[in-house]
Amino acid sequence: MNCPVCKTTELISGTLDENLTSMNCPDCGGNWIRGAEYWKWVEQHGSELAERVPETESLSLAEPGLPIDCPECRFRMVKYLVGRGLGFSLDHCQGCKGIWLDRNEWEALKKRNLHDDLNTMFTSFWQTEAHREARKKRMIDIYISRFGADDYTEIKRIRWWLDTKTNKEELMAYLTDRDPYAA
Ligand SMILES: [Zn+2]
Ligand SMILES: [Zn+2]
Repeated sequence: MNCPVCKTTELISGTLDENLTSMNCPDCGGNWIRGAEYWKWVEQHGSELAERVPETESLSLAEPGLPIDCPECRFRMVKYLVGRGLGFSLDHCQGCKGIWLDRNEWEALKKRNLHDDLNTMFTSFWQTEAHREARKKRMIDIYISRFGADDYTEIKRIRWWLDTKTNKEELMAYLTDRDPYAA
């Protein structure tokens, strides 16, 4: 079976975690997990681990990739956003239920105890939330580039303050009026 990213490199069988085998690409470091293998592992391991908070130190991850085809059944795989502050996607085959992880993605998930939640990640509930989070992140980046980081912090503070006032409309009118002292 060949690597779905490198195409010509053959995957070699390895161990991704205790009791979890995967097919590993020696070139790009990606891992292929068969759907059944993952389910078996989740059953043994349980998926009860509480999510851990993000760390500042981060692993070197692959650049967001192009769509890939399942190395097993050739179906075009679907990308699922991980979210929760992790900016990468996982590839999932809806045919054979296999999962493709690029280099270090398993490790990054494991650091957060999200490696046992992949089946939940593939639900529309999780995906809606992850996409909302990604949109918000994009908007924040736009505001920061438009206003600068300091002014963005300040205007957010003012917005929050306005939201706590019952006479918000009046305060806004004062703020935007060219000459609030003209009769
Ligand atoms: Zn590869
Ligand atoms: Zn497949």
